[in-house]
Amino acid sequence: MTPDSAKRFRVRIQRQDRRDSRPYSEEFEVAYEPNLNMTSVLQKIAANPVTVEGKKTSAPVWEAACLEEVCGSCSFVINGRARQGCTALVDQLLKEAPVIDLKPMTKYPVIRDLFVDRSRLFEALKKVKAWIPVDTYGDVGEGPPISPETHDVRYPISRCMTCGICLEVCPQVNESSNFIGPQAIAQAVLFNEHPTGKMTSSERLEALMLPGGVSDCGNAQNCVKACPKGVPLTWAIGKAGRDITLHAIKKWFVGTEKKKAAEPTS
Ligand code: SF4
Repeated sequence: MTPDSAKRFRVRIQRQDRRDSRPYSEEFEVAYEPNLNMTSVLQKIAANPVTVEGKKTSAPVWEAACLEEVCGSCSFVINGRARQGCTALVDQLLKEAPVIDLKPMTKYPVIRDLFVDRSRLFEALKKVKAWIPVDTYGDVGEGPPISPETHDVRYPISRCMTCGICLEVCPQVNESSNFIGPQAIAQAVLFNEHPTGKMTSSERLEALMLPGGVSDCGNAQNCVKACPKGVPLTWAIGKAGRDITLHAIKKWFVGTEKKKAAEPTS
């Protein structure tokens, strides 16, 4: 089916009523309009949730907010590829498959239908302390200046919208692993590269050294290819690895010096 000839097109949605219930599929027919994206398609289906068999069903549930690839909430597996619903265009999707296939991401627990629980992303950010601690909410004036070079390193990483797609495509993220994933590692680097964030960089590096940290990356590089915001994830993971090594050497050196200083002199 080409988009031009299609007056109506079909969408197959994987439904799931509760966290612990079995998924099932329902197919819907939608009137074609040029430039439709998948979140608009879901709105159309929700407005009149009748399957192709003519069965009245419940409106599909999904998460979305900004509708312009900034909030990261409308991540789905569309035609077998994890991507954002707001920037997945029907015209393109119909060139990939005659029926558009819409599923929830698989690495996150399903809350309902396409709506998944992305808490693991936020828990990982907590583990690596991906923030700059402040000791007052009063006005402390301007922060330290950031050089253009530091800005060039930090800005691409700061575009992360916590959509979770990098974890979805990562083979190291699975039921038997506790890998924090590329997103949290990159965010630790983002804050370690900030002039104020540097002051607490050792805490983030310590967190990245724990089981589930940088050493669990298998270098598949799926993450960097799939990230919708072009976050330089493999660069950030490499940087984190180098920083961890330096941190470990410094720790060993400082520990040895302290031991020497504590030894009784003859
Ligand atoms: S790094 Fe990219 S893919 Fe991963 S959560 Fe951030 S924006 Fe999404």
